[in-house]
Amino acid sequence: MRIKGAFEPAAEELDPDVYDHDDACPLCGTQRVQARDLTLDLRRVPKRGGFAQTLADERIVDQHVADLLADEEFTGVSLRPVHHRTATGDETIDPKRFPAGRELLARAEAEVIRPGSWRYFVWLNRPEQQELRDALHAQAAAEHGRRAARRPPPPPWYQLVPDGDRAQIAPTTLVGITPFADAAQNESSRCPQGHVAGLNLISELHLDAATYPAPDLVATEQLVGVRRGLLQPVPLLVMSPRLRGLLVEHGIKGWETEVAYLD
Ligand SMILES: [Zn+2]
Repeated sequence: MRIKGAFEPAAEELDPDVYDHDDACPLCGTQRVQARDLTLDLRRVPKRGGFAQTLADERIVDQHVADLLADEEFTGVSLRPVHHRTATGDETIDPKRFPAGRELLARAEAEVIRPGSWRYFVWLNRPEQQELRDALHAQAAAEHGRRAARRPPPPPWYQLVPDGDRAQIAPTTLVGITPFADAAQNESSRCPQGHVAGLNLISELHLDAATYPAPDLVATEQLVGVRRGLLQPVPLLVMSPRLRGLLVEHGIKGWETEVAYLD
């Protein structure tokens, strides 16, 4: 799958320590290890909703997609909260200390949702919890002797994190600089250690059937792209027909797919 368009700024521009590059490969510079949740300017995300990504390939989904992923029990994917660049104050509220927070936690427990899990954050942002959420904000603000935020925070987004086994890109796939580059030029965009398969996906994507895991979202083991400034090679993503069908059915925007093959 491919996510359409790209917005700025990238997470690293707002939070220089979001990635740890200490153990990166000296040849290709990959891969970054994410040290904490992304901070993004959520007012800059395309209004169409659905899927979006930054210039640095930070891939995020809106509440509608998050609800589908949580409710339909898709595999191979988890989500992480994304913080808006202007702190909303939510980050530091301990729900256990306030009546509305304790009620939220009890309600989550009754619905068998573990506080702190990604499913909890998706659940917390649903309309059913809005009243208690607002009450929690008001109670926390009152304690600090300040007024609750004048401007409501932007709608929530979540980072899309493929968390299953990874698939090997099969050697029949052409990854290189351009369709017209010769073999040596294409080779120059690869990492000799095998981390980066090349600069661009040129042919259709073939995956090694023997290593192909079966979850609904699969990331490739080899990365595609180049490390340059904020840019970073990233895995390609492949989704199951079931996930694709549901996204189409719900009119989710911001993504497109091409057929991938198992060799
Ligand atoms: Zn490398």
